[in-house]
Amino acid sequence: MRKTEIVTEEVEVTSDLICNNCEKSLKQIIGTDGTYNFCGLEEVQMNCGYGSKNDGTLFTFSLCEECVLDMMSKFKIPADEVDYLFG
Ligand SMILES: [Zn+2]
Repeated sequence: MRKTEIVTEEVEVTSDLICNNCEKSLKQIIGTDGTYNFCGLEEVQMNCGYGSKNDGTLFTFSLCEECVLDMMSKFKIPADEVDYLFG
């Protein structure tokens, strides 16, 4: 016979992501129940390969939508843009 009991387990979850550039939250509340998602670049990693200026360094950062759009506005070659919801 197996005896069971209900236990509470602590689990680490991501509660927010902060933009490394402006310190704003990437969290956007999308539901009345508090449901949320993150908008922007989430924990992007840049690996600097052999022989590069930062050889062996792995950079990790997040950028909010506003900062990404600002950065993209300075591109000499515009980013590709596709409206994947409404075609
Ligand atoms: Zn930002």
